[in-house]
Amino acid sequence: MTRTLVIGAGMAGIACARALNDAGHPVRLIDKGRGIGGRMATRRAETPAGQPLRFDHGAQYVTARDPAFAALLEGSQAAALWADGAAHPHHVGLPGMSGLPRALADGLDVSLGVAATAVSRAGPVWQVTTDATVIEAERVVLTVPAPQVAALIGADHPLTAQLEDVRIAPGLTLMAAFPADAPAPFASRRFEDGPLAFIARDSSKPRRPDGAVTWVAQAGPAWSAAHLEEDTATIACRMLPLLCAEIGAAAESALYVAAHRWRYARVTTPLGQPFLTDATGTLHLGGDWCLAGRVEAAWTSGRAIAADILGDDDA
Ligand SMILES: Cc1cc2nc3c(=O)[nH]c(=O)nc-3n(C[C@H](O)[C@H](O)[C@H](O)COP(=O)(O)OP(=O)(O)OC[C@H]3O[C@@H](n4cnc5c(N)ncnc54)[C@H](O)[C@@H]3O)c2cc1C
Repeated sequence: MTRTLVIGAGMAGIACARALNDAGHPVRLIDKGRGIGGRMATRRAETPAGQPLRFDHGAQYVTARDPAFAALLEGSQAAALWADGAAHPHHVGLPGMSGLPRALADGLDVSLGVAATAVSRAGPVWQVTTDATVIEAERVVLTVPAPQVAALIGADHPLTAQLEDVRIAPGLTLMAAFPADAPAPFASRRFEDGPLAFIARDSSKPRRPDGAVTWVAQAGPAWSAAHLEEDTATIACRMLPLLCAEIGAAAESALYVAAHRWRYARVTTPLGQPFLTDATGTLHLGGDWCLAGRVEAAWTSGRAIAADILGDDDA
């Protein structure tokens, strides 16, 4: 029997599992994705000529307010400062954003490509049904986006009602690469209104592949909601001219173009506390949606859950 099963290997789940593991508490992680990191995601691609490309199509950078989180970033071999001209330090993962959660998960028991489909109580244990098997665990930590919790624990579970007010906006992201001599007018730029919310020149980040100039553009919430159900090829076609207008590149010169749909991208209304736990104290819900739409908030939530579990261990 698994002692604690963490569902979701994004920053919240990994921070929780790391703290449990380091305190000697046995823990296993599962994630439905192919890689570690959730929305700290990096896509590898290549140009038609076979040049490697890397895009951070989820979180672009990490900021730290908690000194413990700042110390983690500063001490990590998998993070470095990005000189994008921002007033506050922007740390990025190495060699891509997903490198940071991957490093934090080093040595943990993680099973990828395993989707939980139901979480239910069977006497004194939890049964987590996955697409492959049923896992029995003493404790379950669920770190999936709040709107996906009800499908796992049930719409009538008392915790589900507590998630009613949490809101996570969708986000559409464009990835585009241009020849090495294409315009590169800035490293990052934020927009207050209009279709685009943020543009980053990913190739200006440390330890990215040499050669092509790579950009990631994030559409704003209204534009993303309006185009959410379109296929990603159409979204890419719509977003490419928006990006090109800002960076002064010719759309026809693009070497690679793709779009990604984040159905749950940025938390707009958080829960307002670091986690939820059920009446037995053996089911915890956490994630960025508890506190704010930032990587640090996910880390804080995961760590707070681990502290709660370890407090029970000591009692
Ligand atoms: C486009 C975009 C840009 C962003 N930019 C920034 C930024 O610049 N700075 C910043 O700090 N934050 C940014 N964020 C937010 C940041 O990425 C998140 O706050 C943080 O990564 C959330 O971590 P998490 O662990 O809570 O959730 P997630 O990273 O979403 O992890 C949840 C995990 O659960 C898994 N999962 C879901 N359902 C199941 C299931 N049924 N079974 C098994 N596994 C499951 C998923 O595969 C996923 O890996 C951005 C997000 C997006 C989408």
